[in-house]
Formats: sequence, structure tokens, C-alpha cells
Amino acid sequence: MPKIEYSKENLQDCRCSNCPVRETSTCIASRVSQVGQSQPFGTSMGGGAAMGGMGGASMRLPAPQAVQMEFCSQDVGKSECTDLNTQLACNCPGCPVWIRNGLNSSYFCSRGPAA
Ligand code: SF4
Ligand code: SF4
Repeated sequence: MPKIEYSKENLQDCRCSNCPVRETSTCIASRVSQVGQSQPFGTSMGGGAAMGGMGGASMRLPAPQAVQMEFCSQDVGKSECTDLNTQLACNCPGCPVWIRNGLNSSYFCSRGPAA
């Protein structure tokens, strides 16, 4: 399994932010509000389709555990939150990061990162 980079590109492609498992976790909501963000990049990216190919990796990112997203990345890992309802649907299958890395599992927030 490749290492899944904790990167701006992957965070932007991650579908955790509107996943019902994440959305219904009061623990995650609390964690995210503590660091003052609901999305790692808010709306500051504008319409930017023309971001170029080089800049992303060097931009400063929030601490991996602060974003409560991209749980498939080994740098992020499973959430510390224990109120995740895994009876609800996981958004991972079909996510661009999931496809690019050939992943075949899901619920990384609960089960831990891709291995
Ligand atoms: S595979 Fe899942 S955890 Fe990983 S980036 Fe996509 S939606 Fe997020
Ligand atoms: S890993 Fe899957 S279940 Fe967990 S928050 Fe992301 S999309 Fe939802």
C-alpha cells in the first residue's frame, strides 16, 4: 500500500467533510470548532482552477489530527473520537484519493489508516 501523503491536494479531494459519519459526530464537531475551522482551507481558494502544479506541497497545512479528515493517510490515522456511527455510509469509495491510491477499504476514521 502506498503512503498516502497528507497534502493540500488530498485534503481538497477528501470527501470526509460531508460524510454522514463525520457530520453526526459531536466529538469531531467539537474538535474542529476548537481549532476554529470547519474546512481546512475555508473558502479562501476562490474559484482557483488554475493553481498550477508545483505550489501545493510546500503550503502550510493544519496539524494532521486537527482537520479530522483524510483519515486514510498514515500521517492522520484514525480519529480519537469514539462516537462515530459506522452504520452510516462512508464516502471513501470513489473519492479521488481512494482511486489514485488503489484503496479498497473504508471507514478509516474508525478503523485506522490504509495499510
Ligand atoms: S479515501 Fe476517505 S479518508 Fe481518504 S481522502 Fe478519500 S474520503 Fe478522505
Ligand atoms: S473515513 Fe469514511 S466514514 Fe470516516 S469520515 Fe471519512 S468518509 Fe466518513
